[in-house]
Amino acid sequence: MSAALPGVALKRAVSRRKSIIMVIAKVWQLVRRPEGEPTVEDFLCVEEELPACSEGDSLLILEPDAPDWFSSSVSEIGSSLTVSNADDFTHVLVEAVALSIDPYMRYKARQIPLNTPMFGSQVAKVVESKNPELPVGTHLVHYEGWRTYTVLTSQHLKDKEHFGVMCLPEMGDLPKSLGIGILGMPGNTAYFGFLDICKPKAGDVVLVNGAAGAVGSAVVQIAKLKGCRVIAFAGSDEKVAWVKELGADHAFNYKTMNIGEALSKVAPKGVNIYFDNVGGKFTAQALPHMADYGVVSLCGAISTYNEEVDIGVPSLRSPFNEGTVIWKQLHIEGFLVFRWKARWMEGLKQLREWIEQGKLKYKETVFQGFEKMPSAFIGLFHGENTGKTVVVP
Ligand code: NDP
Repeated sequence: MSAALPGVALKRAVSRRKSIIMVIAKVWQLVRRPEGEPTVEDFLCVEEELPACSEGDSLLILEPDAPDWFSSSVSEIGSSLTVSNADDFTHVLVEAVALSIDPYMRYKARQIPLNTPMFGSQVAKVVESKNPELPVGTHLVHYEGWRTYTVLTSQHLKDKEHFGVMCLPEMGDLPKSLGIGILGMPGNTAYFGFLDICKPKAGDVVLVNGAAGAVGSAVVQIAKLKGCRVIAFAGSDEKVAWVKELGADHAFNYKTMNIGEALSKVAPKGVNIYFDNVGGKFTAQALPHMADYGVVSLCGAISTYNEEVDIGVPSLRSPFNEGTVIWKQLHIEGFLVFRWKARWMEGLKQLREWIEQGKLKYKETVFQGFEKMPSAFIGLFHGENTGKTVVVP
């Protein structure tokens, strides 16, 4: 491996020797633990020569039909790939098409070993394959991190804590990048995290923060589809205007509006459902406005991610006033979207149907250039994105 300056155009060093392609991947490594807000210096772009995508291991045994995972055909909407014996997975070389930037990466920056690739997902295209099930041109979603090229091997599949490798759902005319956005993890976070945990009823008053983000903007619209009254908060007037376009009954800029006062005004009888993407002070101000027996879906707490607390260590600045939770008999539930792994395609199918029917809108904030990975990530903490953040290398 050799270090390379971010932004320097690297030759896509691909040379054909017989049927073997040698590829130099660009990889962003985490080289320093961020202290507080991440900085560009916490990351280093290196070159990595990939092992040849040879005939590799023996025969491929792919089972694209794990029943609890996926019930529709590949051509219908998508597929997960499970490998009955991971050692039998023939190598494929994939090229990143769209890389995902997500808030959870801040946690990963505490957990992954230094000098290893930053964790993350991407939509990637198969560019070399010995595998008839995954011909050149197949699009996949994988979690191998911030890198331009990847050789997917049996080892990658074994090590996965979430999904490993999935075929991209069939996108039709929709952008393939939606596979890491509204038709991927963030979309399902909104779908299951709202519908399954909050069980909304028509007429419920729903509070959503981070409402112009990838997850929040979908929750706003799903709540409207279910007949709820939606109160949304976002961090700029432009975002507030967009959230209103999406159907929010009330939308506020939390940077210029007092959260408590706004809620007193538009939800005098209280909030039935609070979908929380932000945590911290926002939640401290929102909780007293819950109605009795209200439900809180704790999706994320981005306002606290740069605080140096580890998961499991109680924060002294906890937003929870136990008195409020007890006296209002609130139901508060945290979740990780991978809880719904077995129903993954159900969510994606419904979301796609709503998009096709014009009932669900989405935005992407696209950064052009692999060198933008760190700055796109840092931008999340400044609200630079509207909708899903994507880097196109
Ligand atoms: P977003 O697209 O919403 O991007 C992050 C946004 O958070 C920014 O644009 C910014 O919007 C807002 N933000 C940043 N810092 C602050 C702050 N200090 N106070 C208030 N708002 C802030 O990200 P996602 O939609 O991908 O994720 C939203 C939340 O959902 C995150 O907390 C994430 O960790 C969580 N999540 C949880 C999952 C789960 O399984 N539980 C899965 C996926 C996401 P603004 O301009 O409005 O401030």
